[in-house]
Amino acid sequence: MPYEDRIRELLGRMTVEEKFGQLQQLAWAWDTGPGAGAATEDAEAAARKGLLGSVLNVFGAASSNALQRIAVEESRLGIPLVFGLDVIHGYWTTFPIPLAQAAAFDPAVAETDGVVSAREARSNGVHWAFAPMVDVTREPRWGRVAESSGEDPYLAARYAAAKVRGFQGDDLASQGQVAACAKHFAAYGGAEGGRDYNTVDVSEQRLRNLYLPPFKAAVDAGAATFMAAFNTVSGIPAHGNTHLLTDVLKKEWGFDGVVVSDWAGVAEMVVHGYAADPAEAGRLALGSGIDMEMVSTSIADHGRELLRSGRLAPERLDDAVARVLRLKLRLGLFERPYVPEDAALSAPTEATRAAAREAAARCMVLLKNENAALPLDPGARTIAVVGPFADSVDLLGTWVIPDTRQRFPAVTVVEGLKSALPQARILHAQGVPAEGGSRAGIAEAVAAAGAADAVVVVAGEPPAISGEAATRADLGLPGDQEELIAAIAATGTPFTVVLVAGRPLTIGGWLDSAAAVLMAWHPGIEAGHAVADILTGAVGPGGKLPVTVPRSVGQIPVYYNRETTGRPYDASRPDEKYVSKYLDLPDGPQFPFGFGLSYTDFTTSDPRLSRSAIDAAALMAGASVEVTTTLTNTGGRPGDEVVQLYVHDRAASIVQPVRRLRGFERVRLTPGESTEVRFHLTAEDLGFWTGDPAGVFVVEPGAVDVYVGTSSLTRSRCTLDVT
Ligand code: BGC
Repeated sequence: MPYEDRIRELLGRMTVEEKFGQLQQLAWAWDTGPGAGAATEDAEAAARKGLLGSVLNVFGAASSNALQRIAVEESRLGIPLVFGLDVIHGYWTTFPIPLAQAAAFDPAVAETDGVVSAREARSNGVHWAFAPMVDVTREPRWGRVAESSGEDPYLAARYAAAKVRGFQGDDLASQGQVAACAKHFAAYGGAEGGRDYNTVDVSEQRLRNLYLPPFKAAVDAGAATFMAAFNTVSGIPAHGNTHLLTDVLKKEWGFDGVVVSDWAGVAEMVVHGYAADPAEAGRLALGSGIDMEMVSTSIADHGRELLRSGRLAPERLDDAVARVLRLKLRLGLFERPYVPEDAALSAPTEATRAAAREAAARCMVLLKNENAALPLDPGARTIAVVGPFADSVDLLGTWVIPDTRQRFPAVTVVEGLKSALPQARILHAQGVPAEGGSRAGIAEAVAAAGAADAVVVVAGEPPAISGEAATRADLGLPGDQEELIAAIAATGTPFTVVLVAGRPLTIGGWLDSAAAVLMAWHPGIEAGHAVADILTGAVGPGGKLPVTVPRSVGQIPVYYNRETTGRPYDASRPDEKYVSKYLDLPDGPQFPFGFGLSYTDFTTSDPRLSRSAIDAAALMAGASVEVTTTLTNTGGRPGDEVVQLYVHDRAASIVQPVRRLRGFERVRLTPGESTEVRFHLTAEDLGFWTGDPAGVFVVEPGAVDVYVGTSSLTRSRCTLDVT
């Protein structure tokens, strides 16, 4: 029977209680965090009565099968449960954090992560990953920047689609795929001050031009589910936001999947001061478009009364249930509710580790490399590797399954260098702890540096202060790490700093003293091998910053795709007074979006257009303009470069960003090699959303600057006339 017929048939047999039951998701007992309230027995009892739709945080094929058996064999209708889990950048095989993946400027990295994670998770009874997080953010203080693809909507959209493809493949019912969940809808990354869960007040035009594109891309890629955001959006909690959940997502975009709440996000509408009581929270959530409630039970507890009193339309209830059943049908759960326990994957394999290693190396961004300090001199006999993360296994990043953290920790940088350079002597000294404490170890680190031909300092922030509810007001190196770097600098030996972090850090005064700086992010299970691949030159660095690196916290938000003021700062007139600048800070960021060095040199030619003018109506009807540039490796080594395409509409009915990324391509070239890189500019690239709540997209006539280059600061440009 076709899915829709089966859904209708099932709905016809369900009681009202069973319908509300499908809209409830409970947490498995291992996690009893705030608002959890439900232990394993509660979930089992609810499943037995047919009053439960989903469970999150169930671990392992055996547990998943045991719980599923209760729902399928003991409940009246035998509707299977759907099991969800935060599979953010790996299940057993931990890939680099999502922000790092974005730095690869290669969505294939996210797709591979999705493929590997889906296979490992599904074989262990997980049907549904609460990822990708596609929130665009300009807030490095916000800990969840680590889970994002950074500050650009186009980059985030490309990554959103890739991760959805990786997770879902062509057939969700296959045993190697999981349902994706685009989250957090919407504008969660706009939290004021970067404080998690905080207020977001955003205009419709900014919502549509900045925050929504990755969500739309996720829908277009077939994302099976969405998750609502904890924040308010212009005064209305996302969990009660009809405009977002129903008008835009379900009606305008035609999304027929499930919208799940975030953890207790429905009940929290009472705390927000939006719903007077839990019953009202349930009504607002379901009424505005939430289909399943995670952990809190406002809808299930009060649904019957809401229906009876006419505060809830029965059609909305049936639609929500239909969406949940549709997800289960798509996942093939009615046919195959269980997973074969003897086929459960229980560890990373050589192949998945190799994929994670390649991904991690691809994600690293070389920020500085004075006098070609890197790659390390192959003649270096003794290498000192110092710093709190030099021999740390704590490099997996935020959101790692507890079991994975213990069983499959990261390869350390010391281990990675030892295996890459078996002839070299690797001296290790921690120097200082990651987050402060004794400085007594600095002397040992200095002694190691003094005895070495090359020095690598591995510094940064631990995963524990990155991720959800991990907002920082100071983005410098925590603890006494700057003192350690100053002590190493005082030895006069040139040194490299490898930064591990879940966000851009303010690099501060020590930047001048380091010969080289490599941003390694939180690189995942193969961290040390991947760092060694880059340091030794076995792999050339080619990543680019997906976020602007600020000079100081006081400058935040600082991002490349800003609007210009009427009084922009002009570097040729630095003393001008009434301009937009800080009196006490040089203009511009420490490192711009799209920036990253390699071990070789590249040039791009000025962009060439297939035509110098195009009609706006033709663009809207599907025409495009080809942009071509010649990329040449002018240096002495093979290497990767990311060619980037930006546009700027000079005059528009809504002031346009000074630059907008609209294309990128990562290319590998040997010394002396050239290639043509081609992009196509379409209506989507040249137009914008007007801010009409009904969703109006326009391409306006006028001049558009088209830039190509190797960072967001490129000056290489030509002009396209839209007529
Ligand atoms: C997070 C979500 C996550 C959920 C379930 C929440 O606190 O905001 O991103 O999927 O917990 O663990």
